[in-house]
Amino acid sequence: MNKYWSNGIESLTPYEAGEQQPDRDYVKLNTNENPYPPSPKVLAAIQESANGSLRLYPDPESNSVKQTIADHYNLEKNNVFVGNGSDEVLAFSFLAFYQDKPDLVFPNISYTFYPVYCRLFDISYTTFPLTGEFEIDVDKVPEQSGGIIIANPNAPTGTFLAIEKIEILLKRNPDAVILIDEAYIDFGGQSCVSLINKYKNLLVVQTLSKSRSLAGMRIGFALGDADLINGLNRVKNSFNAYPVDTLATAGAIEAIRDDDYFQQCRKAIIETRGWTVKELEKLSFNVVSSMANFIFITHEQMAAKSLYHELKNKGILVRYFDMPDIDNYLRVSIGTMEDMKIFIDTIGPIVE
Ligand SMILES: *Cc1c(COP(=O)(O)O)cnc(C)c1O
Repeated sequence: MNKYWSNGIESLTPYEAGEQQPDRDYVKLNTNENPYPPSPKVLAAIQESANGSLRLYPDPESNSVKQTIADHYNLEKNNVFVGNGSDEVLAFSFLAFYQDKPDLVFPNISYTFYPVYCRLFDISYTTFPLTGEFEIDVDKVPEQSGGIIIANPNAPTGTFLAIEKIEILLKRNPDAVILIDEAYIDFGGQSCVSLINKYKNLLVVQTLSKSRSLAGMRIGFALGDADLINGLNRVKNSFNAYPVDTLATAGAIEAIRDDDYFQQCRKAIIETRGWTVKELEKLSFNVVSSMANFIFITHEQMAAKSLYHELKNKGILVRYFDMPDIDNYLRVSIGTMEDMKIFIDTIGPIVE
């Protein structure tokens, strides 16, 4: 405990990201980044906006990005909130919708940032167990909660919950905000965005970090009823008036508009995922069914932890979670076909 710290800082358990500054040149399959670069149009727009006008503050309401996203999803601008990465949008949502409420509810295996925010903002929470296949059984979701958060597809498992099931939760809990974190939705799942005009308690959060190759730029957004978006605006304007900078604004607009490039990248990743799964199954891996740009794998004989270390020694970084229920699994991001061939050629001899 440092004497200068505020009370409560000592007891926080901060989020731990995957290794981001490795000591050598790895095949990096540990943080679900997109292996393809951003669209050339995005890079051109950022370069073009790097000019004298950077002396000015950006539009505090990010109107141009909001309008572009609204047009793309057939919504109104007042259904859109934009923030500095979806982690920030999630943090604002916890503050806006879950403080001083009954327990917030999420699966026991999910994005590890959720309990971190709960502790930071003093939000009480309850988790519910996933099935043996890491699926969500909606009848296991506690009722009378202060809200529900579901990463869909889930992280780190990659499993997808059908939107008909989410609709059951929306109907059962009309007085609580159901937040669907769709960070990985573009890799094969079906988005809940189509339900926004039907349910006032639905907030869908997405990001440009994964499917649009812009993890380094930090843009995330939320889609929902105008009243929910207003709640987020109140939090944002009490915290940081300008979370979206001028360069990110220019890049985000082009990233949403360049749909051809986006479709090409996501198709390549989905195809590479299919190939990787087949190869791993030949090597006696059990692969959890994934709709994300990563897969969650376990081997019949070899412990995940030693596999993680052996891969690292051989120049491949994957993610290992030393946590109950999943400590014999590895999460492997889907890279280029070339990356995944190296991965399979390396992991094969280790397990054989
Ligand atoms: C990556 C990720 C995010 C955060 O993405 P940002 O880069 O902050 O936009 C949010 N939720 C889940 C489940 C993620 O995996």
